[in-house]
Amino acid sequence: MARPLFSLSKLSGGSSAALPVLMYHRVLPEIDPLQEGILTSRVMDTQFRTLARWFKVLPMDEAAAMLAEGRLPPRAVAITFDDGYRDNHDIALPLLQRHGLSATFYVSSGFLNGGIMFHDALVETVRHAPTGALNLDVPDTPPLMVSDKASRVAALDQLIRRLKYLDADKRNALSERLLDRLGKNAPDHLMMDDEHVSALDRAGMSIGGHTMQHLILSRLDATTAWNEIVGNAQALSQLTRKPITSFAYPNGKPGTDYNGEHVDMVKRAGFGNAVSTRSGIGLKDAPRFELPRFVLNETTELGILMRMLRMTAYPVGASAAVKPAVGTLEQSTSAS
Ligand SMILES: [Zn+2]
Repeated sequence: MARPLFSLSKLSGGSSAALPVLMYHRVLPEIDPLQEGILTSRVMDTQFRTLARWFKVLPMDEAAAMLAEGRLPPRAVAITFDDGYRDNHDIALPLLQRHGLSATFYVSSGFLNGGIMFHDALVETVRHAPTGALNLDVPDTPPLMVSDKASRVAALDQLIRRLKYLDADKRNALSERLLDRLGKNAPDHLMMDDEHVSALDRAGMSIGGHTMQHLILSRLDATTAWNEIVGNAQALSQLTRKPITSFAYPNGKPGTDYNGEHVDMVKRAGFGNAVSTRSGIGLKDAPRFELPRFVLNETTELGILMRMLRMTAYPVGASAAVKPAVGTLEQSTSAS
């Protein structure tokens, strides 16, 4: 069956409406040549201005509740930021305030106060590698030639794809080795400090859970996964003095990065809703603990409006839920 180009009813509020949830990570003052996909503050300003003019931006908790109850206002949207980068506080917060918008920030508490995520250790390693063969001394990862910008972008892409699913221990060890090698080139304030989290909260923004170490939940044993989820909520709750009510799965791909067991854990831990990285917009019956999101890259008002319309052709309903925990267990036993 042909997919409709768009469906206005999905943005018209009420019980047939769907909820677009925007997913951001970082925002930079200027384009980073190695990470051109990261928005600049200028583009984010345009996006937020457009959202403020045409849409009703709601806090995630409110949006998720209204969606489930079939009472979303027309053109409802929620804004989310993942990981806890300091630029969220320094650049995104003033932009949100300028346009009178609110957002939810999913923070991995283990990196607060000077930590660095594995991804960024890789980025900086590739950025500062001298021209020639870059060898990370990792099994099955051959040396890569780096020289100009294009070769570095390609090398980074390769490394991220090869190392994303490395075991937690190996990943931490490699990260430490890379930071050692970077020496004074290792960034020390990429992520927020405790104070930035509190400041976001005081400014009326929401703080959400994203685990402590940003490890892929499906790769962890149940106890570690549970501790990652709950320890993070406790740490953030101490900073905001509020319960942490929304959760984002690290990496967020349903069935790959998390499964039914983790959805159950998030519910049991006391969260009220959660988001994945499945691309789409959630319908009224979408799984409340796996709401889809999407990345908005458009840079002009018209482009942004067209994209929001186009996303109505990608509704996500009840069938999107990952298999329940028990079913997943049975399946993995019978498959082995
Ligand atoms: Zn993340």
